[in-house]
Amino acid sequence: MSAQFQAYQIGKSDSGQRCSLTQLEDDDLMAGDVTVRVEYTTLNYKDGLALTGRSPIIRKFPLIPGIDFSGTVIESSHADFGEGDAVILNGFGVGEDHSGGYAQRARVSGDWLVPVPEGLDMRSAMAIGTAGYTAMLSVLALEDHGIGPDDGDLLVTGAVGGVGSIAVAVLGKLGYRVVATTGRMQEREFLLGLGATEVLERAEFAEKARPLGKERWRGAIDVAGGNTLANVLSQLSRSGAVAVCGLAESMSLPTTVAPFILRGVTAYGIDSVMAPLARRKLAWQRLAADLDLDLLDELCFDLDFHDLPQAAEDILDGKIRGRAVIKVP
Ligand code: NDP
Repeated sequence: MSAQFQAYQIGKSDSGQRCSLTQLEDDDLMAGDVTVRVEYTTLNYKDGLALTGRSPIIRKFPLIPGIDFSGTVIESSHADFGEGDAVILNGFGVGEDHSGGYAQRARVSGDWLVPVPEGLDMRSAMAIGTAGYTAMLSVLALEDHGIGPDDGDLLVTGAVGGVGSIAVAVLGKLGYRVVATTGRMQEREFLLGLGATEVLERAEFAEKARPLGKERWRGAIDVAGGNTLANVLSQLSRSGAVAVCGLAESMSLPTTVAPFILRGVTAYGIDSVMAPLARRKLAWQRLAADLDLDLLDELCFDLDFHDLPQAAEDILDGKIRGRAVIKVP
């Protein structure tokens, strides 16, 4: 008999899309070779867009939203996973065109799953979530570029946000001199506590960039795009690199080729959704090793599963501080 479970489901009709908490059966899940009892999920900006319908994130209807989750395997025909395994899923279009984590059960391809690494539990995995994992992909890009802790200052933009805060915490623990930028200077002490050595006003990077500025940064992690990223590029030192992972300011990039052809700088694109499995596993293992888990408590708060619809509105309106961790009932 097909088991029943609770899920948020987004449907579409002539009057638009609608999200409701409903009772589903295993047969309602999409195809996949691993079924997971979802233990924890989280709320990302993208989930806010999906739940409210403010942006066309969902590409198949009806669909269970939620772009990341951790949970326990309850059934598997995939060679790498068996009953009882603790797993993490983020990306691969889950919560966009394949049903995701806002449900008691999920059925997915085992090729998308990462085992919860030693040192993390299912809750901490979701406290880190897609944002923290993206931060680690960015750190890996700078390390692969050959930038070590003694090579000079690193800049992290949007430092109070999800990606920025974990990037600051990881780089700080690894011994880098991290300069953080924020529009919320009242959070300066918080950023210093996380591991930043200096905190700058976001406004310093908001004006139109010159083709080349003073060389200030050996490397950078940028979540903003727009003028901020253009200024970062013009301030990177010779052969420096920036991990480009977001568009919090803008999708546009009003820059010139000068930093690339006159200083040999490199911009690495960070795509968390389709990153290859080996890279994902490495990122999660490194998070287990290089993130001070005590700091996570300061970075996240618990959100009730039933409060997700309101919280989705709140995250889009900029009313949420820190990362929401949701225990699925
Ligand atoms: P958050 O909303 O948590 O943080 C974004 C931060 O950006 C804000 O906290 C703020 O930092 C800063 N910011 C906001 N507006 C501006 C602005 N106008 N100019 C400069 N900085 C600004 O988001 P996340 O950290 O979760 O995600 C950051 C970005 O990365 C987003 O654009 C997101 O879409 C993207 N992303 C990309 C992924 C990928 O695969 N490449 C994966 C995950 C996220 P502060 O408060 O310190 O000023």
